Amino acid sequence: MEKKKILVVEDEATIQELLQFNLERNKYRVKVVDSGEKALSAVGKHRPDLILLDIMLPGADGLEVCKSLKGDPKTARIPIIMLTALSEEADIVAGLELGADDYVTKPFSPRVLLARVKAALRRTESEATTSRNDLITIHNISIDTSRYKVTVDEKEITLTSTEFKVLQLMASQPGRVFTRYQIVDAVHGDDYPVTDRSVDVQIVGLRKKLGEAGRYVETVRGVGYRFKEQE
Ligand code: CA
Repeated sequence: MEKKKILVVEDEATIQELLQFNLERNKYRVKVVDSGEKALSAVGKHRPDLILLDIMLPGADGLEVCKSLKGDPKTARIPIIMLTALSEEADIVAGLELGADDYVTKPFSPRVLLARVKAALRRTESEATTSRNDLITIHNISIDTSRYKVTVDEKEITLTSTEFKVLQLMASQPGRVFTRYQIVDAVHGDDYPVTDRSVDVQIVGLRKKLGEAGRYVETVRGVGYRFKEQE
């Protein structure tokens, strides 16, 4: 199989080396650039399969780079994982809302980072192959999106239309973090207007109805929610 290409956008030499070493050891092809401007030109030239993007960069920062790549149909589908400091919660939320696929906070363990890279690449591949499939099956949950039917351990559960949409959105991209705004935007609450606080209420209701399986709907503190990936 051809090696996947990863573009690393990072201005700190020690982190560049750490990333390059670990990615290459795991059979990825790596290109490293140290500024937002160079990132944009490298994407056109190298066509990476995934981008690791530092937020704090000299010149155009990671958010600007993300906005520009996700706003261009030619590059919008390349997954972006942001590299951020834990204290940059607002930047994390902004980046996700600009279309970034995930984030990893510094300092990170190479093992965690590699798992996120793998998961993001896997999501891109499964999106391409199963986007027309009506059935989402994950863990012990099965979601029939054409019939609005959900079963847990083969027993049907009844969800409101908003709960159903929240579940469908999150379970169709397991492992991906959604901000409250992204959830609101995707569900447009048919039963009543959804605000970001009421997203929390929807999640509580959804977890309750899912029972034991409710634990797969994970809270990502300060950022939003994520549906747990199947191992
Ligand atoms: Ca930096």
